[in-house]
Formats: sequence, C-alpha cells, structure tokens
Amino acid sequence: MTVVMTELAPYAVTGTNSRGRIIGEPSPGARSEFQRDRDRVIHSTAFRRLEYKTQVFVNHEGDLFRTRLTHSIEVGQISRTIARALRVNDDLAEAIALAHDLGHTPFGHAGQDALNECMKDHGGFEHNLQSLRIVDVLEERYGAFDGLNLTFETREGILKHCSLANAKKLGDLGQRFLEKRRPSIEAQVCNLADEIAYNNHDIDDGLRSGLLTLEQMREVSLFSRCADAAVAEYPAISGRRLVHETIRRTINALVTDLLAETGRRIEAASLSCLNDVHIAPTLVGFSAEMHSENMQLKAYLRDNLYRHYQVLRMTSKARRIIADLFNIFMDDPRLLPPQYQRMAEGDKTRAIADYIAGMTDRYAMKEHGRLFAVGGV
Ligand code: MG
Repeated sequence: MTVVMTELAPYAVTGTNSRGRIIGEPSPGARSEFQRDRDRVIHSTAFRRLEYKTQVFVNHEGDLFRTRLTHSIEVGQISRTIARALRVNDDLAEAIALAHDLGHTPFGHAGQDALNECMKDHGGFEHNLQSLRIVDVLEERYGAFDGLNLTFETREGILKHCSLANAKKLGDLGQRFLEKRRPSIEAQVCNLADEIAYNNHDIDDGLRSGLLTLEQMREVSLFSRCADAAVAEYPAISGRRLVHETIRRTINALVTDLLAETGRRIEAASLSCLNDVHIAPTLVGFSAEMHSENMQLKAYLRDNLYRHYQVLRMTSKARRIIADLFNIFMDDPRLLPPQYQRMAEGDKTRAIADYIAGMTDRYAMKEHGRLFAVGGV
C-alpha cells in the first residue's frame, strides 16, 4: 500500500499562520516549529516525571497499569491519527498531547483536588495552568529563557480550561476564554483524544486489577457491542485477548464516529482559514448517539472504578499526604529544599504548590515519611 502525503487543510495551523514564540528564535532547520515543540516537551524534566505519577492506580500497585507517561503517549497516538485524517497539523496535535498533563500533581485527581483545596485562599491550583507554568516558567534548560519557549498554538492547546479570573491574567493566551473563541482544531482533537484514551485504558486497567469484571462491563452498550463483534469474529476467544479485541474496537468506533461527525461539522462551517475555526462552534466531537454512549461509559467508570472502595482508600491517603506536606511547609518554609526556599521568598504559597505538584507519587510518600514518620525513614 502506498502512503499518500496529503496537504494540510486551509484551516490547519501551520508555521506560516502561527503566532510564534514569545522569544524569537532561528528557524529549526530540518524540523517544523511544532516538531521542535514536541521534542522540547519530550526532553523536559516534567515529562520524565510522568512515568511515576498516577493515572488511576498508584505507580507501585503494579507494573502494568497506565501512568501519566503512558497515558500521554496514548493520547499522542490517537491525536496524531485523528489530526492526520482531518488534514490538520499532526505535529502540533502531538506536541499538545504530550504536554497536556505535565502539570499534574502526584496521585492523580485526588492530589490535584487536595492541592487546590490547600491553595483556595491563594489563587487555587489548576493542573492545566500548572502545565502552562511548567512550559513557560519552571523548566530550566535554556540559557536564553525560562521554560521551553513553545509556540503560541502549543501553549493554547495546553490551556484547555481556565477560570475567567485566571484568563484575565494570561494576556493573549487568556483572551479566547474572555471572548468565547474556540482553540485550533488540533487542540480540540487532543481534548477528545485524551478522553478516548483514558476511558479505554481505564477499562483495561480496571479489568486487569479485578475491580471491574467483563460480565459487569456488559452493562455498557458500546463495550457490549464491541465484545459481541470480537466474539463473532473469534468464537473461542476469552480472557485478556477478549479484553484487548474489545478495547481496540471501542477505540476504533469512537475515533471513526468522531472523524465522520467532525467532517460533517467542518463542512457545515465552510471554513476557509484558521480564524474561521476560532469563531465557529466546537468542531471536533462525537455524533449525538456516540456522545450518549460515551457518557454512559464515563458514568459507569465513575461509579464502579473511580469510586471503588479500594481506589477511594488510595485517594483518601493521597489527600492527607498532600495536605500534610502543604501545611508543614506553610508553617516552616525552612523545611523546603534550598531552591524552593529561594522561590518562597517571593510567593511562598505558589513555591510550595510548585514543589508539591512536581513530586512523583513515590517522592511525595518518601518526603511525607521523612517529615512525619517517628524515627524517620
Ligand atoms: Mg490526560
């Protein structure tokens, strides 16, 4: 089979219509600007730390569960597939996907909720904003600037949500939230690729852990239909192979539906340039039927996996660890490592949040032990 190289659609983000970087840099030569963004993300410290950050299961609970790193790679894969099929910029979509979770705290959403609660009188904590802060400020890799100096479009895609109060502080990047304009199609693609990736890998991890069972999962119409299709093709199939043959079909069904629906919306919007994307309604989405099936799947995972008592035991412990660390550093910032002590001389609470948010799961547990365990560890 020959691979046909297709030209980008007129509404795709390109090196030509890009709003560029905050600090001007020479052209990247053999790479595109967005390949350069992706490569900077891959080489960052925050990206490597994702390997030891929880998605749903804490990293040490098993070697086969997703971590934020493998999750981000799966989001990158799905984003690239969709972006290329829509003839938009797949390098940009991949750069956004690999960077989208850089700002996550240890212990998944439980960690972020706990840190947000600790920060409620100090500007709050949002992981999207923290991802942006990492690529704009916190990474220390270049002589000429703080952060990674990524293009406007990659930064726009990273900032998926943002409160209006925060948007006002973000200048150009916050403007679209105030004006209710949509981000690029590439950013919209990553948003849904994230959802497709985590719904499906959480089913896989849930089944692998034994917290979910195949029989139970039959309540979910999309899963049930895909399992039937797998059995129809391979009548003797069971166990892990059945799980994988089902999940590859659910991912495929979601992506196929999304491509068809998005194609229809793009056509209806008669886009002729990138600016048309910003003023059009949301373009990347599922059909109404698939949207409701996807909602059923999400509700099922929420009720049966994320609120499973074994998961709640972990999230309760995680909340306590984060709150304990925050409180002890607030009481005595001299306990912070020297680099963060210096930052704390400026904005104490933000420096503490940066330190805690940057921790991996196991680092947070060790640090908690060092500070609280009687007899030390
Ligand atoms: Mg994600």
